[in-house]
Amino acid sequence: MSAPKPAGTAVDEVHILWTSEGMSCDGDTVSMTNATLPSIEDVMLGLVPGLPKVYLHNKVLSPEVGDEFMAPFHQAARDELGTFILVVEGSIPNEKINGDGYWTSMGNHPETGEPITVNEWIDRLAPRAWAVLAAGTCATYGGIHAMAGNPTGCMGLADYLGWDFRSAGGLPIVNVPGCPIQPDNFMETLTWLLYQAAGLAPTIPLDDLLRPTWLFGKTVHEGCDRAGYYEQGDFAYDYNSPKCQVKIGCWGPVVNCNVTKRGWMDGVGGCPNVGGICIACTMPGFPDKFMPFMDQPPGGTLSSALTTGYGALVRRLREVTNRTANKEPKWHHNRAELTSGYQPRWPRR
Ligand code: SF4
Ligand code: SF4
Repeated sequence: MSAPKPAGTAVDEVHILWTSEGMSCDGDTVSMTNATLPSIEDVMLGLVPGLPKVYLHNKVLSPEVGDEFMAPFHQAARDELGTFILVVEGSIPNEKINGDGYWTSMGNHPETGEPITVNEWIDRLAPRAWAVLAAGTCATYGGIHAMAGNPTGCMGLADYLGWDFRSAGGLPIVNVPGCPIQPDNFMETLTWLLYQAAGLAPTIPLDDLLRPTWLFGKTVHEGCDRAGYYEQGDFAYDYNSPKCQVKIGCWGPVVNCNVTKRGWMDGVGGCPNVGGICIACTMPGFPDKFMPFMDQPPGGTLSSALTTGYGALVRRLREVTNRTANKEPKWHHNRAELTSGYQPRWPRR
């Protein structure tokens, strides 16, 4: 066992300490197991060139249980584990308002046997971690558990640690939202951080909501298979239609998410592409700002009204052009004459 290496030193071994003991359904862990770019198995087996050796400590995927599973978390809190990345799944409850109990915990204090709250683990581990990764919308921005009327006062990791938090590796929290995370979005981000820890990648680029810029810089709508229908003002009015779903609740035009481009598992799926409206699950205001889910978004009323007039005209014109484009040239025939317009250079004899 060894102390973490100072910031800026390339490492050849990284532990991933993953807690899903926040307010969570473990869905991000389950989703992550479907990644292929790269898969968690390839990362752990050392099959991705250049990555440090990786040890994963995640309760859903670990063969160890009880004290054996908890041991690396305690070692990390004593600076005895070496370099580690802390992954937090689930929103963080407010233990200042827990009454006589606690909201959520992971393991027990060895001396007292009392539960250790997830907040205490975050306080112990986050400042020691080389990087801190919030997996899923609950951990990034609070998500479902943090909606209006919740009793736990829960919040995202940056609300808890502070938006200007810096890890031992000098990084801000890295947020990968999604309910759940898109598997490859998570693994690609983790892989970047591992390459960075190995000294083989520059600092990960993040936007001001701490999301990787290359993953969350575009909207759902910009990658949607149905965007051609939107542009032509051709809308679905029920969920059996292949047309644009904005009138039946899709928030895609204003939501930062890449699943329409990337697909869900191994390139397949991606909500609106396969018939699901975008309910904005990656967004900081999810879910309250986007409810009720199956109503037309307020902005969509105006924009789809404008598109309906313009789109209908464009659609008609394209139908005419399409009919023309669907005809073979008139000189393709088997009559005893050539009508292709061929001009011989020398007259035939
Ligand atoms: S279904 Fe949604 S994301 Fe797709 S084109 Fe329509 S509004 Fe845009
Ligand atoms: S398309 Fe919308 S609902 Fe689907 S994952 Fe992206 S943000 Fe969530």
